[in-house]
Amino acid sequence: MKAWVLHDINDLRWEERNLPAPGEGWVRVRVIAAGVCGSDLPRIFQTGAHRMPLVPGHEFAGEVDLVGAGVEGLARGQRVSVFPLIPCRKCGPCRMGHVEMCRDYDYVGSRRDGAFAEFVTIPAWNLLKLPDNVSDEAGAMMEPLSVAVHAMRTGTGSGSQELPKEATVAVCGLGPIGFALILFLMQRGYRNLYLIGNKDFQKNRAVSLGIPEERFFDSRQGDAASWLYEMTGGTDLFFECTGRNEALSIGVEGAGPAGRIVLVGNPHGNMALDRQIYWKILRNQLSLSGIWNSFYNGTPEDDWHYAMGLLQSGQIKPESLITHRYALSELDRALSVMQDSGQDHCKVMLI
Ligand SMILES: [Zn+2]
Ligand SMILES: [Zn+2]
Repeated sequence: MKAWVLHDINDLRWEERNLPAPGEGWVRVRVIAAGVCGSDLPRIFQTGAHRMPLVPGHEFAGEVDLVGAGVEGLARGQRVSVFPLIPCRKCGPCRMGHVEMCRDYDYVGSRRDGAFAEFVTIPAWNLLKLPDNVSDEAGAMMEPLSVAVHAMRTGTGSGSQELPKEATVAVCGLGPIGFALILFLMQRGYRNLYLIGNKDFQKNRAVSLGIPEERFFDSRQGDAASWLYEMTGGTDLFFECTGRNEALSIGVEGAGPAGRIVLVGNPHGNMALDRQIYWKILRNQLSLSGIWNSFYNGTPEDDWHYAMGLLQSGQIKPESLITHRYALSELDRALSVMQDSGQDHCKVMLI
């Protein structure tokens, strides 16, 4: 088979590899669609992966090609989406059913070979069947969509603790996860949304989703924290999706009393807060929560089934977030689009 293999930092090659064979309980999947994630850029060009050589790619959908021994209920040709984390099943979080916090996990596309290849092997437990009316592209977006669901549920809470629908909610950082969050928040009934981005096309995209133009602030054009506080009178819920100091500060300064802040973005460097910003966390009794990956336990309660249910009923249409499509063999072109800050892009898909 053909695969993109990362041999070293900034050494990614399109080459011939042996077809992987699925072991007991595992399945070989033929990759049909694979999303390129923002986290693939530093992995390929700056830091390298945990193990190399490695085939990157962790957001994908495909069809079952070959099932290993002991696998039931999955036939060749079954379309599937894939939860990319393979838990150890022994550590504390795994025993609690929260494998997203597993202490010793394996991960398709960062720790073991992933989806930028024609075929990949994965445990049957990690597969979700794709309903007929859910596209391959939507299936390939299940991972980032589920991360957005995880962030939303963490921020809005549930049951009697659920944030009222009239609450003011801000999303800072409008990449694929930020926009996916907006889709899920709107579907959930939150209408007082405030967006902070830094590109004109993000504003156009927000307007096309029905967000009033004046609810979008371009952080290149002034003090986003003052804007946010003036617009909302103090935000009830703020999603930080950039991993930058400035954005975290905007969240704290823009927050109202007892405001909630959800930290979603991977940090670009050390995160530090000015003293007067830190004071506001104390004085406003803010809650800061981190999220990591998404909640998956194979039951209807998990984030993946939540997202899949909304795809199946047509209430979330994530294909609108795709701005670029390339063939698998054109991954190099896809990466150069994402590296070029002058190029407007949201989700970049190999299909
Ligand atoms: Zn990702
Ligand atoms: Zn574990």
